[in-house]
Amino acid sequence: MHSLLEKKGFILDVDGVVGKGKKPIKPAVEAVKKLMDLGKKVVFVSNNSTRSRRIYTERFRGYGLDVDENQMILTTYATAEYIREKHGGSRIFTTGEEGLIEELKLAGHDIVDYTEADILVVGSNRGINFDIMTKALRMCLDKSKLYYATNPDRIFPSEDGPIPGTGMIVGALYWMTGRMPDCICGKPETVIMNKALETLGLEASDVVVVGDQIDVDVEAGKRIGAKTLLVLSGVTTEENLEEMIERSGLKPDYVLEHLGKLFE
Ligand SMILES: [Mg+2]
Repeated sequence: MHSLLEKKGFILDVDGVVGKGKKPIKPAVEAVKKLMDLGKKVVFVSNNSTRSRRIYTERFRGYGLDVDENQMILTTYATAEYIREKHGGSRIFTTGEEGLIEELKLAGHDIVDYTEADILVVGSNRGINFDIMTKALRMCLDKSKLYYATNPDRIFPSEDGPIPGTGMIVGALYWMTGRMPDCICGKPETVIMNKALETLGLEASDVVVVGDQIDVDVEAGKRIGAKTLLVLSGVTTEENLEEMIERSGLKPDYVLEHLGKLFE
């Protein structure tokens, strides 16, 4: 048994840890079941900015994992909740897709056109176009408007190779206006991680943060002061591990081939 199994809570990244897109990582899925059987508190934290908790819960059912929607801390949800906590129900224009819009509405926000909006929420959109970018640009140029981004990912590792992340939009807006978001909610920032801790009802010292990317997951774990476990089942591999550690200047507390190794 691994010493990390003494922790009360587990904050797990999804892509590259529990599954790859719609495909489960089988030994990891078994490990998640064992963790929950042991009575560990488990939440899943993802920077995916196009999906709602409902959509992700369905994906987990496809993995063969019966989890509660409340265990899903997606950046869509964390962003919507954080804006509600800070500003109440708000009038929002978003670049994002249905999944983000769903969570913003569930948190009590109104989705409006840019001329009516007080807050710009940038999230990834596979149907992004000139019209949406024009509206986002105009909000960005107006300093009286708040600008939130769901996550800072430049590139998203999809099943068939890298695709543009939310950084495509954040980067374009920065290049046009010199403005960066007033707040970024996803990993490695603390907004989403604090939401995960709050949901677990635990202190950072009682949890371990698990992920496949050092500059995203390990950094996020370190920022809240939790122990970190890097798994080599996603972006970071046996081959590029040393290079990744060197590049980020961060060392995970533990490294395992995959989550299932916790029980070997
Ligand atoms: Mg990942």
